[in-house]
Amino acid sequence: MIPYGCQDVDDSDLEAVVTALKSDFLTQGPRVPEFENAVSGYCSAQFATAVNSATSALHIACLALDVGPADLVWTSPISFVASANCALYCGAKVDFVDVDPTTGNMSVSALAEKLARAKSENALPKVVIPVHLCGESCDMAGIGRLAKSYGFRVIEDASHAIGATCGSRAVGACEHSDIVVFSFHPVKIITSAEGGMVVTNDADLHSKLQMLRSHGVTRDPDLMAWPADGPWSYQQVSLGFNYRLTDLQAALGTSQLKRISHFIDRRHELADRYDELLGNMEVQPLLRNQFGQSSLHLYVVLLDDGFVPSRRQVFEKMRSGGVGVNIHYIPIHTQPYYQELGFSVGMFPGSEAYYARAITLPLHPKLSLEDQNRVVELLGEALN
Ligand SMILES: *Cc1c(COP(=O)(O)O)cnc(C)c1O
Repeated sequence: MIPYGCQDVDDSDLEAVVTALKSDFLTQGPRVPEFENAVSGYCSAQFATAVNSATSALHIACLALDVGPADLVWTSPISFVASANCALYCGAKVDFVDVDPTTGNMSVSALAEKLARAKSENALPKVVIPVHLCGESCDMAGIGRLAKSYGFRVIEDASHAIGATCGSRAVGACEHSDIVVFSFHPVKIITSAEGGMVVTNDADLHSKLQMLRSHGVTRDPDLMAWPADGPWSYQQVSLGFNYRLTDLQAALGTSQLKRISHFIDRRHELADRYDELLGNMEVQPLLRNQFGQSSLHLYVVLLDDGFVPSRRQVFEKMRSGGVGVNIHYIPIHTQPYYQELGFSVGMFPGSEAYYARAITLPLHPKLSLEDQNRVVELLGEALN
């Protein structure tokens, strides 16, 4: 099966991990701050906190912004469930903002309309979490303007988007947001096996995030509730978790980050080649590079109207032909758990229209041109 996504681990990565394994530190040690500095430097953010997944990153990002049971958090229905679950972990209520069906990204006009309505009902969100689907930045300047005028905070779920840009800045620079979250799951742009990162330019948020990652415990006298009992002292000042990344994972992440521009370039070459090869077929690639350069985590095509009813057959033909096509994503509000919470099919028509047409074709740095040709050939057959 040609996978839709796949890590690219080379000898330099292996060497970095083995060196870490032979060192004094297996769990969080010196390689974690090294990885944090490498990521914050790469995306021009001031601070970074490495954690064991982007799911954990989203959770502590919400907590650092004081999301609690009285609060509302809005995100995109077209995302992995973790983008919404993080608010539920904090006891908050979740709602969704519909997407632009041509990109799958949160629609700024849908957000503006929903905010105007919410204001009149006194039900404004505390936090909005836009998701950079496939590595394509949302219109962050537009979302940032609304954040200022309505007074909500912004967490960018950039799980797909390390290496992407927004305007003239890297995604992660937090130009229009409070916090940006990255994922290093193996199918993402770079990997640390499991892993995530929370970046911010706000020193107070950063210090909360560092504490929440590790039990809410601090050894820094400045952060303690009262003077230390002695030089051995640590104090628990909030309810944190064990969300730490290991030094082995940090070593892998730092090593992978050194090759990120190669990964992104290769993804762009392959995506441009798909655009060309698919030129005459009844599919449209998602619009990209609208507000900056996409990191191209995923290559999604939308089936032309006439083929929407037969998406399942297209999917099955390609899978049985050895092509690991996928669907990103089933709208979160249609999941059984979310239907239990009161959501139902029909509530976010842009998202449902996008979902009905979308198919993800394989794209990753190790995809060979022969395999890519095979994907295109099978898609052509499936559409005939
Ligand atoms: C992968 C992903 C996550 C979760 O990442 P993990 O590191 O696996 O926890 C969250 N949001 C989006 C959009 C993702 O694609």
